[in-house]
Amino acid sequence: MKTYQLYIDGAYVDPVKGEYFDTVDPYRGEVWAKIPKASREDVDLAVAAAKRAMWEGPWAKMNATARGKIMRKIGDLVTENAQRLAEIEVRDNGKLMAEMHGQLRYHPEWWYYYGGLVDKIEGGVPPIDKPEMFAFTTHEPVGVVAALTAWNSPLIFIAWKCAAAIAAGCAVVVKPSEFTSASTLEFAALTKEAGLPDGMFNVVTGFGPETGQALVTHPFVSKITFTGSDATGARIYEQAAKDMKRVSLELGGKSPNIVFADADMKMAAAGVVSGIFAATGQTCIAGSRLLVQKSVKDEFMDRLLTLARSAKIGNPMLPETNIGPVTTPAQYKKILDYIDVAKSEGATLVMGGKPASGEGLTGGQFVEPTIFTDVKNTMRIAQEEVFGPVLSVIDFETEEEAIQIGNDVIYGLAAGVWTKDIGRALRMSKALRAGSVYVNTYRAVSYMMPFGGMKHSGLGRESGIHAIHEFLEPKSVWLSLAEDAPENPFILR
Ligand code: NAD
Repeated sequence: MKTYQLYIDGAYVDPVKGEYFDTVDPYRGEVWAKIPKASREDVDLAVAAAKRAMWEGPWAKMNATARGKIMRKIGDLVTENAQRLAEIEVRDNGKLMAEMHGQLRYHPEWWYYYGGLVDKIEGGVPPIDKPEMFAFTTHEPVGVVAALTAWNSPLIFIAWKCAAAIAAGCAVVVKPSEFTSASTLEFAALTKEAGLPDGMFNVVTGFGPETGQALVTHPFVSKITFTGSDATGARIYEQAAKDMKRVSLELGGKSPNIVFADADMKMAAAGVVSGIFAATGQTCIAGSRLLVQKSVKDEFMDRLLTLARSAKIGNPMLPETNIGPVTTPAQYKKILDYIDVAKSEGATLVMGGKPASGEGLTGGQFVEPTIFTDVKNTMRIAQEEVFGPVLSVIDFETEEEAIQIGNDVIYGLAAGVWTKDIGRALRMSKALRAGSVYVNTYRAVSYMMPFGGMKHSGLGRESGIHAIHEFLEPKSVWLSLAEDAPENPFILR
């Protein structure tokens, strides 16, 4: 069994108090590694290293082009180590190997993209309205960044958060989820190999209320970038406000996938299945509410059920598996509890609805892909995030009704629209209050496209050029051209 170490100031180190916790393979239900439990002292060391590295270390003195080269090298090393990293993630998280191959092929693009932006962080010289002044603007790194990530996609979250933060000149201290810490600790070595100066990337592992709290409340942390539940996000936002820390929050969702009668039914069924059953429904953008136009409901449900029933549940390492285990015991229980809630609310179970059993499924926490019809949007199953393979089907008659139901949740992360009518596609994409709207597709992301949520789904955006500004502070510099003191020094210049 492997025992991991923390990664602080460019070195793997034991936790100060020498405490560890188990991490479990969710497919086999077995402990496979020990993860260090970072205390406040470890967090202090990591934040101090980060502060030193970004303001006084070689990174601060290195020119932007050289920084970009190191970032691109990190991307190359992810590619070289993709198979090893994928195996660790599948083992620790239960994610499908097929999905990890795709993720890790794509992950380096964030390092290349933000590596390319490093030497393009330009200030400006505005045509200032005061002839006696010369003024210019610069962008400076916001300070030490704490990056807290959820358990569902640890490695991709590192790319989304840290590539932009490091490109902006910030050092990061990452706190991965206690359920899936291993891949982040393994990734850390690649930053060293790429030549990233010590202290620019640190990893502290442990539980949210201890390690996470010590990190987000640390006085030298200036910015928190968080991916996780809206409850934790709200708490962090509140705490950050006390110290004026900047925050970016990527939180939950209850996204509608809206199928109109004029849609390509085959494409829509594939999109709905991918939206809710891919990654075992454990994605923030899961299309967990299917809104289907009444006139095609029966036809569409037939297609959907046929496709959903073809899903192979099993060993996430095997390429033929479509649905893997639920990652954590708490999440497994939560999904089964929500299935009971839906039944008690009067929704009709048309598929699944229980733990999956059978050959090869004994060790893991498997839930059958589950579909409920006759769901009302006011029901808890339609309003609350399940974060599992449970789809609620709601029907509608008009476009206005689809918009009203689609928007009638506290979340606003994503929405899918299936239609061949271009006017409707554009009307819907404008009317839906969601950070990403997918038309005739679902669950696409890119390093070039901003990603994030409206309403309770979060604050700020990741990816795209704009995201680098989440880690920068603009500064205005004023120079007087005057040769003499102002006549009246008591008024605003
Ligand atoms: P979580 O909120 O329980 O934990 C997220 C991280 O915060 C973990 O590292 C955890 O240890 C830490 N944490 C927990 N309590 C803390 C505290 N009091 N102080 C400081 N840190 C604390 O979320 P989770 O269960 O790991 O992830 C699932 C959630 O993440 C879902 O709601 C999902 O929708 C959301 N999510 C959002 C996105 C997005 O990009 N919008 C992506 C993936 C997941």
